[in-house]
Amino acid sequence: KKYIEESSERRRLYNEVIELKGNIRVFCRCRPLNQVEIAGGSNCVVEFDSSLDNELHIVSSDSSKKQFKFDHVFRPDDNQEAVFAQTKPIVTSVLDGYNVCIFAYGQTGTGKTFTMDGTPENRGVNYRTLEELFRISQERSGVMRYELFVSMLEVYNEKIRDLLVENSNQPPKKLEIKQAAEGTQEVPGLVEARVYGTEEVWELLKSGSRARSVGSTIANELSSRSHCLLRVTVKGESLVDGQKTRSHLWLVDLAGSERVGKIEVEGERLKESQYINKSLSALGDVISALASKTGHIPYRNSKLTHMLQSSLGGDCKTLMFVQISPSAADLGETLCSLNFASRVRGIESGPARKQT
Ligand code: ADP
Repeated sequence: KKYIEESSERRRLYNEVIELKGNIRVFCRCRPLNQVEIAGGSNCVVEFDSSLDNELHIVSSDSSKKQFKFDHVFRPDDNQEAVFAQTKPIVTSVLDGYNVCIFAYGQTGTGKTFTMDGTPENRGVNYRTLEELFRISQERSGVMRYELFVSMLEVYNEKIRDLLVENSNQPPKKLEIKQAAEGTQEVPGLVEARVYGTEEVWELLKSGSRARSVGSTIANELSSRSHCLLRVTVKGESLVDGQKTRSHLWLVDLAGSERVGKIEVEGERLKESQYINKSLSALGDVISALASKTGHIPYRNSKLTHMLQSSLGGDCKTLMFVQISPSAADLGETLCSLNFASRVRGIESGPARKQT
């Protein structure tokens, strides 16, 4: 009974918020200046208002200021707990049957991986989310039965690769997207590992990350040039009325959004950059088409948006972290990212719908 009351209260509160704000949230996170920037005497171009947690100003070299507003703005001294506190209600709604999609967007080196993966001392959104999902499933075990599955894949140069290969010395398996029922995509052959606890997932993710760098001598470079996707599938069954749900939570660390310099524009790097630009702009186009409600949503323009189609519509919950650098040297890229994110935030969307 307590569970039913809590769950309907959560839904009521959520619907209230949705009526006010829609299903798409954008959080901005600014990393601290790093050692090299401090040693080099870099200027910080980001200003925060001490009393407001949803806006920031970018100060240009001519001292003009541009204001940006998001659903929440995290400052350089906000820690992983603070970030997760805001993210938790969104990710845990996958247990109530909602499809959820979280992206980290931004220039390489701005903290996308720090926000999503974190480090063993400073766990990020992915680990904390799994921990919370296991905790809540345990808490609800008298009224709900949950099964959790994890998949991990990479999109590199418009090719999808399964990172949960059994033997991480083997190259990742290539996969294709298949249209299942109307508006539902499947990736046949994708490994879905049933998981029972957070540490187990952590080990799985570590082996997935190793698979990511197979064949590359420059693992870090590759990781900034591919999208890394973690998918948590939740199957739920109510022990009260037998109602079943199946929903997905996608946790996505996108490729770096930086524009390539003129010097690099040749060969393999050019191809990579074109693919990255294509998929990031496809993501922006999908989101703005959803916003303008024009009817046709161009999901098929990239593997990324096509695969996420059923988790990226008006009835799903979407959260984008726009990651930025405070340094004057990155001003141009920072403005590009903030403009992109503002476009995303402009979205109006209908209430989220439960998946059954
Ligand atoms: P990206 O994934 O965007 O390329 P990373 O997550 O690799 O960026 O971050 C670059 C570096 O900055 C890493 O050493 C990371 O630990 C550090 N970093 C990023 N964000 C923060 C933060 N909020 N607090 C402390 N260190 C951070």
